[in-house]
Parts: sequence; structure tokens; C-alpha cells
Amino acid sequence: CGVFGVVGVSDAANFVALGLHALQHRGQEAGGIVTYAPEHGFSSARKFGYVRDTFTSQSVMETLPGSLGIGHVRYSTSGSKGPTQIRDVQPFFGEFSMGGAAIAHNGNITNAEALRRELIERGSIFQSSSDSECIIHLMARSLQRDIPSRMEDALRRVEGAFSVVAMTRTKLIGVRDPLGVRPLVLGRLGDGWVLSSETCALDIIGAEFVREIEPGEMVVITPDGKIESLRPFRPQRARFCIFEHVYFSRPDSIIGGRSVYETRRQIGVELAREAPVEADLVCPVPDSGTPAAIGFSQESGVPYAMGIVRNQYMGRTFIEPTEQIRNMGVRLKLNVNRALIRGKRVILVDDSVVRGTTSRKIKEMILDAGAAEVHFRIASPPTSWPCFYGVDTPQREKLLAATMSEEEMRQHLNVDSLRFISLDGLYRAVGESQGRNSECPQYCDACFSGEYPVEPSDQIEKGFQL
Ligand code: 5GP
Ligand code: SF4
Ligand code: MG
Repeated sequence: CGVFGVVGVSDAANFVALGLHALQHRGQEAGGIVTYAPEHGFSSARKFGYVRDTFTSQSVMETLPGSLGIGHVRYSTSGSKGPTQIRDVQPFFGEFSMGGAAIAHNGNITNAEALRRELIERGSIFQSSSDSECIIHLMARSLQRDIPSRMEDALRRVEGAFSVVAMTRTKLIGVRDPLGVRPLVLGRLGDGWVLSSETCALDIIGAEFVREIEPGEMVVITPDGKIESLRPFRPQRARFCIFEHVYFSRPDSIIGGRSVYETRRQIGVELAREAPVEADLVCPVPDSGTPAAIGFSQESGVPYAMGIVRNQYMGRTFIEPTEQIRNMGVRLKLNVNRALIRGKRVILVDDSVVRGTTSRKIKEMILDAGAAEVHFRIASPPTSWPCFYGVDTPQREKLLAATMSEEEMRQHLNVDSLRFISLDGLYRAVGESQGRNSECPQYCDACFSGEYPVEPSDQIEKGFQL
């Protein structure tokens, strides 16, 4: 998901809508905005679909007055299976004795089911099936006198990944979990302040990047522009999601002082060193494989070409929640550039193989177009474990790499060769020149290594085996 907030500007909702539009790649199912204006109180709008279709009409935007606002774009990773229900669309809102508050959450709470059971037992009435709603109910139970302190209380009970943007009548609040699994950055816009999942959303509104919210940090921003920085949690070593670098974030964002594009290009360079192959063309599976394919071509000297063309009017395949849509999606979204491919030995570069749906379809399409050889190079290690921290990987059994070796996957996909970047190669590409520190890894890489930095307790209770 993507989260965004702004304070101290006129017509906050317009900025929030633009910010969410720039974060659309983080969630395409639905979006929501909450604003506050003293004359109107809190206003909110929650809609299915793309931001550009839902938060552009004047009739919607004029219902969202105020100089303080937050928003969320949703990609369902927890809660309702199947299509998103409007009740699961954030921001969530709570009314407390000291006033209202709204929250938008990116990440996944790993003990949400246990918390929900406990809260329901004690009288909480849940409105949604989302893990994020726990935060509101925990805040309601806190005895603290102000909302930021209630949030601290609530978030100390929550485990897993959370980057939260919240607001009261007067304050904008940003928090990152102690490991800092999901991103969150602070920006400056005139006299106002901005919180955003990624820097690309600062660029779109002309805000200046100030710094990242640190893992375990909570910032409370008042309308007069003061920022208070708090440390509500026991300090821990940060474990940012390495897959944000590989796939999730936009390539024009800067994360941890590194350009996401440059990291991805470097992954391609590492891949070309680790797994070279003689071929005529390097083609990305667009868009997610493009920077790595550029790096692969630069390092190997094999010419880069657009062997597959992407229909720009389709969204991200993976983010479509059902298998059927995902299956169709590949062909609706990608097509082979036949004239270019015929008779050629082609290296295809993609960011990841999850279920194998994309790679299988693409291989068929490309052989159909008359390619002489197909070599897959994948810009992440085999995804053999599910993510429980906010990326919607399927159950373990459905992950190709969970049940097959690399050679079995190659046969299954029926390609001439298949190679994944090594975990150390990936770490080198994100700037860790010594590779992965296996004693205390610098990132979360659980979907590749099976080493979960936060115990996924709800899942273990349901029988998931580490
Ligand atoms: P598959 O088709 O193998 O199930 O999924 C791999 C494709 O999904 C890749 O092209 C990749 O770009 C895309 N992808 C999108 N989102 C995700 C995600 O959350 N996890 C992973 N690993 N791949 C994703
Ligand atoms: Fe990111 Fe993978 Fe960790 Fe999930 S398991 S947070 S996708 S690195
Ligand atoms: Mg892709």
C-alpha cells in the first residue's frame, strides 16, 4: 500500500490526491482521503479504483476541505480475501474523548488476528476485516490523554511491519515500525510538511525531500510547523524490505540515500557477472525488469532491445488479486515484438518469479514469435517463502521455488536456461559490498531466505511452519 499526508497547505486534499497518484503502483484496488477543516470537522472519501478516476472530479474534491489531510492507496494483503470491500478501504477513523483521529497504514501486522480476538472479547466492534483497524481499537482502550500518546500505546502492542500516517484535528503524525520494514519519508512544501511512502510522490507536488522517518521513530507535526521526534519502541537493528529495491518501489524514488533505478541497474550488472550467456538480445519483461535488463546489457555487451512491449493502460499484474485476472493480465498487458525476436537468441530479464505465471506465458509468446533460444535471468533470488509484512505473496505451496529446484523450474518453464541472482549478489547491488551479513542481515529478505525478522505469530498459529 501507499500512504501520504500533508499539513499546512491550502486545499490539502488536492496534494494528497496527487501524492496518491504517484504512489499508485503500491496499490491499485482502492484509495481514500481524510481531511480536517475547523468549519467542517473531518471529511472523508473512500473509492474503488485508480486515483486518477476517483479523486479528480470536482464533486468529490470539494467534499474534502482543509489544510490537513492524509490518504491511502490499497493493495489487499490481509483481511478480506477476494475483492476489496469498501469497508476495508483506509484511512480508518476513530472518535476519542479528546477528538477524532484518522490513520493510514502500510505493512502487515503479524499478530493482528490475536489482537482482534482479544479486542472483540473486550467489547470492540470492528467495522472491517483489515489488520490495520486493530490500531484504532487499541488507541480507544489506551488511558493516555492525548492522541499521539494513545498511538504510541497502541503501536507498542502491534507486531510486524507498519509505516503509518495519521492525523488529528491539528497534527500530522508519521511512524515507522522498529525494523523500518516499509518506507516513509518526510518532505517540505512551502511552510507545510509532507509524509509519503516514497520520494517520487514528493517530486510530483514539488515538495523538497527532507529525510526519511527512521525505523522506530514517530514524528508529530503541528500546524505551526514544529516537529517533535519520539522513540516509542525498544531500539532494534533495522531490517528494511529488500524487495522494495527489487520491485515494489518506483525506480525514480530514492531509498536509504540510493536511487532505486541505480540499484536495479546494478542488479543487472551483478546478474551478468554471475550468470553470463551468449545471446543476440537482452530484453526486459517490462516494466519491472527494465532497469536490470539495462544493467545486464551494459555489463555483458549484449544489445538491449524492446522484445516485449507493454500496454501502458494496464496496471501491475501481480497486484490484481485473483488468479484468473492475473492469468489474463499477462496477455492483455504484454505482447511480443515479433519482427525483432524472430530467429534470435533472447535473454529475458524479469524482477522475480513467484507463481511462474508471467514467465510461462512470456516464454510461450516468445517461442511462438520464432525465438531461437530463451534464457531467463531473474533480478531476485528464488522466492521460496511468503511475505507476511505487506507484500501479497501466495501461500508457500503456490510459490514455484518452494517446491522446485532451479533446474526443475527451468524444465517446468521449458527454457534453455534459467538463473536467479544470488542473495549476496543482491546485497552487493543494494550497496553492501561485502554481501549479506548472515550473522545479522542488513535487510529483511525472508521471502528469499526464510529468515523472518518478526515471528509471524498469527500464521504459526494457523499451522505455518518456519
Ligand atoms: P508470477 O507471474 O511468477 O506469479 O509473478 C512474477 C511477476 O509478478 C513478475 O513479473 C513481477 O514483476 C510481478 N510481481 C509483482 N508483484 C509482485 C510481488 O508482490 N511479489 C513478487 N515477487 N512479484 C511480483
Ligand atoms: Fe520484503 Fe520479502 Fe521481507 Fe516481505 S519477506 S518484507 S517482500 S523482503
Ligand atoms: Mg513484472
